[in-house]
Amino acid sequence: MTVFEKIVAGEIPCKKVLENEKFLAFYDIAPKATIHVLAIPKKCVKDFQEADPKLLGELSGFIQEVVRVLGIEQSGYRIISNIGTHGGQEVPHLHFHILGGQKLGSF
Ligand code: AMP
Repeated sequence: MTVFEKIVAGEIPCKKVLENEKFLAFYDIAPKATIHVLAIPKKCVKDFQEADPKLLGELSGFIQEVVRVLGIEQSGYRIISNIGTHGGQEVPHLHFHILGGQKLGSF
C-alpha cells in the first residue's frame, strides 16, 4: 500500500485542500514552494504513463478546481508529475505537484 493510499484510507493524516469521489488534493509534507499541493486519484495508478487518458482528463479538471480553491489561478502556478526513476518519482501512485504562491525559478 502506498503512502498516498494510506492517506486516502485515513490511516495517515493530511492537510486537505479539496476532495471528491475520485480525487484528493492535500498539502505536500515537504513543500518546495510557498504553496505546494499534491493532487491524486483515490484509486492507485502507478504513474502518468500507466493512467487512462480519461482519468487524466478528469484529474485535469479537478486540478483546475484545486487551483481556484487555492486562489492562484491569476498569479500562475506550475504542475509537475514525476515518472519513474529518471523522473525522480518517489511515491508510485500517480500525483501532480501544484506549485505556486511565489515566482518560481526556471529550469
Ligand atoms: P515524487 O517525488 O514526485 O514521488 O513526490 C512525492 C511527494 O510526496 C514528495 O514531494 C513528498 O514530500 C510527498 N509526501 C510524502 N509523504 C507525504 C505525506 N505523508 N503527506 C504529504 N506529502 C507527502
